[in-house]
Amino acid sequence: MKEKGIIKVLLPEMASLWQETLSWQPNATQQQLFQKLYELILSGNLQMNLTRITAPVEFWEKHLWDSLRGIAPFLKEVSSLQVKEERINRNALCLRVIDIGTGAGFPGLPVAIALPNCTVTLLDSTRKKIAFLNSLVMQLQLENALALTGRAEEMGRHPLHRENYDLAMLRAVAPASVCAEYALPFLKEGGLAIIYRGQWTDKETKALSPAVEKLGGAIASIERFTTPISNSVRHCLYLRKVGKTPAAFPRPTGVPTQRPL
Ligand code: SAH
Repeated sequence: MKEKGIIKVLLPEMASLWQETLSWQPNATQQQLFQKLYELILSGNLQMNLTRITAPVEFWEKHLWDSLRGIAPFLKEVSSLQVKEERINRNALCLRVIDIGTGAGFPGLPVAIALPNCTVTLLDSTRKKIAFLNSLVMQLQLENALALTGRAEEMGRHPLHRENYDLAMLRAVAPASVCAEYALPFLKEGGLAIIYRGQWTDKETKALSPAVEKLGGAIASIERFTTPISNSVRHCLYLRKVGKTPAAFPRPTGVPTQRPL
């Protein structure tokens, strides 16, 4: 169905599946935003290559659910705050979040919708994708999201961005040690990097550990899970920034991928 250039296909709500898997579910405003996001991505896909995941249930699972599974601990906190809100009347979860290599806005956009008190910077080196995301953020009237064009290697050295975030997320951007080199410079001490992976092995954890330590981080936990509809295996790596990242990192543009730590 097409109407004024907007493609109308209904996303499933999946309220009980959200609740069972993440102990959270979107409120009516958030559900409307997910729907609008879906429509705008489908429309954008006609102009440029944004995503191959376009069927409603697949979009729900692989883009919305998968993006939010990574921040499950924060969603639990928000849910419990919402329950208490009548008494304390405030939602205290205000984090600075950066999504590095956001592409069509994942995981950053679902996170900005789910955590309205957090500010989310969407970073990508492709100008065209960022122009699309800026128009999408405006159309969704998302006041807590901002899209920026730039390379992680350069932005991670910029005084406005280095050590300025509580949470850095990366999905499908680069090998894990490269993701660590991109992410850790952005984090304040105590901040958390979340690296979204498909398969992952203990051998890879062992190999990643020294690289993370060089960057002032430590592997805090690794979670294995399956997606709730197609039962695909996923992992999230959680890296805690425990010290300063040495000034040598991130190395100049291209070096992290050419010579991974
Ligand atoms: N995170 C999205 C997109 C993954 S595709 C998702 O999971 O759907 C990887 C994206 O990372 C591309 O859009 C690419 O332009 C961007 N990217 C790769 N290396 C980068 C770097 N060093 N700095 C900024 N963006 C980068």
